[in-house]
Amino acid sequence: MRRPLIAGNWKMNGTRASVRTLLDGLLSGISSIKNADVAVCVPYVFIPEAAQLLAGTAIAWGAQDVAKEESGAYTGEVSAGMLKEFGCRYALIGHSERRSYYGDSDAVVAQKFVAAQKHGVTPVLCVGELLAEREQGQTEAVVERQLAAAVKIAGIAAIAQSVIAYEPVWAIGTGKTATPAQAQQVHAFIRNWLAAHDPATAQSVRVLYGGSMNAANAAELLSQPDVDGGLIGGASLKVDDFLNICRAAG
Ligand code: PEP
Repeated sequence: MRRPLIAGNWKMNGTRASVRTLLDGLLSGISSIKNADVAVCVPYVFIPEAAQLLAGTAIAWGAQDVAKEESGAYTGEVSAGMLKEFGCRYALIGHSERRSYYGDSDAVVAQKFVAAQKHGVTPVLCVGELLAEREQGQTEAVVERQLAAAVKIAGIAAIAQSVIAYEPVWAIGTGKTATPAQAQQVHAFIRNWLAAHDPATAQSVRVLYGGSMNAANAAELLSQPDVDGGLIGGASLKVDDFLNICRAAG
């Protein structure tokens, strides 16, 4: 069976002091979570702090993006090798905010996916449709296009070594959550699409839901058969909320 994963996406939030308080709080509650993996994806500058505080604990840490290049004259970028050196287990790839504000195309996202895996950092590939796309009945076509771009460059076997996050863009940071049935429908689509390429990969890969998941709605979303965890934005900044979501998973 797939072990659930609850991953926090802190986005561009925090100070040195608040990061320490948040991580200390999570560490004091983590022993009650037995049946889920837990991770936090933090701003780059806080990765050393996370590594120091979380090393040897049940909480993994990761980044929110990664460069597609290995090294060189790419001002402002951070490579997968650098993330690995600081113990990152995960890197978010293709988050909708990266796609919409920074122009990360499907092809760029796929290259980042490959770069992360090359250095042993597990990509969390974010896919999901805009509200207008859902209203036009294009949800599955959009998700398929985003998945196919990664499979084309990385190959289907690489998907087994990744995590997929279905995040309907209209649900991110808006307080509008997909209903459990809406989430399950797209998660099942993703798994079936993968199964058509490789049934074993489809069965093993974790597909997280993201989009205004909180302590109140987590249990129902996580009880869906193809929802294997959550990618949590706003609620991951609050110790009790995040721990309660983790408890709902396991
Ligand atoms: C996210 O940024 O990945 C996310 C799901 O945000 P929120 O939980 O705040 O909607």
